Amino acid sequence: MERTIIKDIFSHPELIGREIEVKGWTRTRRGNKYVQFIALNDGSTIRNIQVVLDMTRFTEEQLKPVTTGASLRVRGKLVESMGKGQTCEIQAEDIEIYGTADPDAYPLQKKGHTLEYLREKAHLRPRTNTFGAVLRVRSTLAFAIHKFFNERGFIYLHTPLITASDCEGAGAMFQVTTLDMNNLPKGEDGRVDYSGDFFGKPTALTVSGQLEGELGATALGAIYTFGPTFRAENSNTPRHLSEFWMIEPEVSFLDINGNMDLAEDFVKYCIGYALENSREDIEWLAEMYDKDLVSRLEFVLNNDFVRLTYTEGVKILEESGHKFDFPIYWGADLQSEHERYLVEQHFKKPVILTGYPKEIKAFYMKQNEDGRTVRAMDVLFPKIGEIIGGSEREENLDKLQQRIDELGIPMKDMWWYLDTRRFGTVPHSGFGLGFERLVLFVTGMTNIRDVIPFPRTPGNAEF
Ligand code: ATP
Ligand code: MN
Repeated sequence: MERTIIKDIFSHPELIGREIEVKGWTRTRRGNKYVQFIALNDGSTIRNIQVVLDMTRFTEEQLKPVTTGASLRVRGKLVESMGKGQTCEIQAEDIEIYGTADPDAYPLQKKGHTLEYLREKAHLRPRTNTFGAVLRVRSTLAFAIHKFFNERGFIYLHTPLITASDCEGAGAMFQVTTLDMNNLPKGEDGRVDYSGDFFGKPTALTVSGQLEGELGATALGAIYTFGPTFRAENSNTPRHLSEFWMIEPEVSFLDINGNMDLAEDFVKYCIGYALENSREDIEWLAEMYDKDLVSRLEFVLNNDFVRLTYTEGVKILEESGHKFDFPIYWGADLQSEHERYLVEQHFKKPVILTGYPKEIKAFYMKQNEDGRTVRAMDVLFPKIGEIIGGSEREENLDKLQQRIDELGIPMKDMWWYLDTRRFGTVPHSGFGLGFERLVLFVTGMTNIRDVIPFPRTPGNAEF
């Protein structure tokens, strides 16, 4: 007999009255000596299927190993259910136990566990309702991202994870080497000699695929990347991971305004797709963790993002009279508290800030005529702060070179990047969306460690 996926049971009423087979993990077993009930989940949906056991056909001895976590195969007739909260249930005829889960040892018992506890059991937490829901939503969002770009003719470009450029500038990097750390070859100057290293020079894990993304965009027109990025910053916040996934579209012949439109359309599309295709999981998460979740998602979908300049934003913050932990003045890098004040207190809408001081932004951003600001854009979201960072890129070789010199950026290995400006340069723009920040927003979770299956953070690379 072919196995039926539990999710399909609930969407195929014609299965009622038929013999079916399901496989999954026991969530609970309860009952008495006449009738018992097993709630079985196979990970395909937040919903469990109820298995009803007529105890004239089964013995207590036989069911004893069916405790929370035990894996089973169940055959029986699918019937309409009398019990409240479920549409159908299986009248068990035959049960096979694949694996038991000793109640004294299995870490996930019936009682709800805290998210902190579950982080220490990250190898098993996908079996909980919460992480099942989060990981399904995450998967739906990943699919939505590919769908969005594919429908618009973007080319999915795979940029390298190992890079030799140490000027990406987005954050501290993890070194990649095959040298023997206990016996490092040294040059005459006493410094490590990398000529014998795997790549013959120092390399690191990428902090962003943007620079190579620009190579793709200035050939293919519009590209996007969607892959892991690594940042070796010691930031222990609920919004930073050491390994996270980033989506980076890069588009030729697009200016900063088109870039803002793209960013807004993109996040709205993803949120809308998740609401449509992961509704049950989102509603379950809302019920458990965040009653306003669905209305917040719908609000973002149905409202234009507010667009204003950094200068205007700083003025609002200065005049707010609000006491911030970090001082606010023109030239300051905005902290999460500033971003959230603008979004949550002042505008009560997502905000796109543009025209940042060039000193606090990367070298490749297009310089404005005022000589002080660049065509950067950050998209700021309620509860999250920055969800997207992007810009129009400086396409003029002389201006770009001048900025590189001013900042003293080591460009010796970057000749290839400057070739985009040397040969057939074009106006172009792009941005980076931190995938986990989007998943945070859509699931209503509050700690980024809870929206990636196996988080990497300073001091933590277990599992
Ligand atoms: P932040 O100011 O929040 O540290 P950033 O300005 O360093 O972010 P960018 O270099 O602009 O970030 O990266 C683009 C996007 O990647 C950000 O808008 C954010 O959504 C996401 N992001 C950046 N750093 C992290 C991180 N450590 N963990 C998870 N997501 C991140
Ligand atoms: Mn940024």
